[in-house]
Amino acid sequence: MLQRTDRGKKKTILVAGGAGFVGSHLCDALLSRGHRVLCVDSYLTGSKANVLPLQNHPRFRMIEADICELHDIDEPVDEIYNLACAASPPQYQADPVHTMMTCVLGTGNLLFLAERHSAAFLQASTSEVYGDPEEHPQREDYRGNVSCTGPRACYDEGKRAAEALCFDMLRTSRVDVRVVRIFNTYGPRMAPDDGRIVSNLIVQALSGEPLTIYGTGEQTRSFCFVSDLVAGLIRLMEVDPNPGHPVNIGNPGEFTINQLAEMVLSMVPTASRIVYHPLPKDDPQRRRPDIDKAKELLGWEPGVPLSEGLRQTVDYFMSVVPGERPPRHTAPAPAKEPQTSPLPMGA
Ligand code: NAD
Ligand code: UDP
Repeated sequence: MLQRTDRGKKKTILVAGGAGFVGSHLCDALLSRGHRVLCVDSYLTGSKANVLPLQNHPRFRMIEADICELHDIDEPVDEIYNLACAASPPQYQADPVHTMMTCVLGTGNLLFLAERHSAAFLQASTSEVYGDPEEHPQREDYRGNVSCTGPRACYDEGKRAAEALCFDMLRTSRVDVRVVRIFNTYGPRMAPDDGRIVSNLIVQALSGEPLTIYGTGEQTRSFCFVSDLVAGLIRLMEVDPNPGHPVNIGNPGEFTINQLAEMVLSMVPTASRIVYHPLPKDDPQRRRPDIDKAKELLGWEPGVPLSEGLRQTVDYFMSVVPGERPPRHTAPAPAKEPQTSPLPMGA
């Protein structure tokens, strides 16, 4: 098996999707460790604002490109992190064919690039490969319950195909590939219009709009703060030997969406109330990572509790979402209301 021999070296690292929410935090972390960072992004769901503070950094280079069309890079590369892919359900369903092509063709392009440069490769896979899981919590050896024809398939099956491609490249000793299965991650720099639950609830509360909960709100997710995730990604890229199988990275604390909404309402000064909308098709009912492998192989576990991470995320959105805010003590208790309006785009 291919193994790392370059620990501690200052490297040139390509971060595909580096202008996105997670990718921009990863760029920060790699630069702070002394590496050179090549950020490749098409700005499909990421933003120039996320990488603006890095633009004049001497070890940072921005390359605006779609990974489906990226065939080479004009300087040597030691590592590639592939985070390029829309991650929010409304965003990845907006152009499902492009999402699938990003996962398969784009990941393939980056793997071939890694092969030519003898670069190590980390693929950002997802808990969505487990679909609507029938096993709980989800261990890496669980094969999942995924629809290959539903609205989430472009992402779920795209990421599964990308994993297959990654492990073929590893098995045939062509690229030193590592695969991380990321569970719901949140934090500063999520786009206000991203559409995922944490940003939606906070932005809605700050804007005085109804907090939208899909279904009964009793479905669960496990929320990981972005700094914990980034630490796990770097550990997995650097661990020697390569685990040779996917590793879950997430926070095993499991919350219902109703609980999350109540936490947001307790932190944001708002007059907003909760409204219930229909549950989107194929929406997973329960999700919680088993992180024994991450603990054992990477010595990694999350350190930021949801209450602390949410506080930081609320503070971030307060600085980017305009609007007058009532004093904090006026926040009402959450109230259930009947379903009133259709779902937002693609949800
Ligand atoms: P994001 O949408 O903020 O970031 C994705 C970035 O990829 C954006 O900057 C976008 O412009 C870019 N991108 C998309 N398609 C591209 C293409 N074809 N070519 C070039 N750039 C492209 O999402 P995120 O939450 O930061 O997610 C980053 C990665 O982590 C994604 O691959 C996602 O599947 C994975 N992931 C994230 C989570 C999470 O909860 N945040 C969970 C599971 C997996
Ligand atoms: N969700 C919700 N209201 C929203 C956005 C999402 O109730 O405004 C629900 C969604 O149906 C799902 C959960 O919150 O059950 C997490 O959704 P998200 O899109 O954040 O992530 P994913 O479904 O991909 O885990």
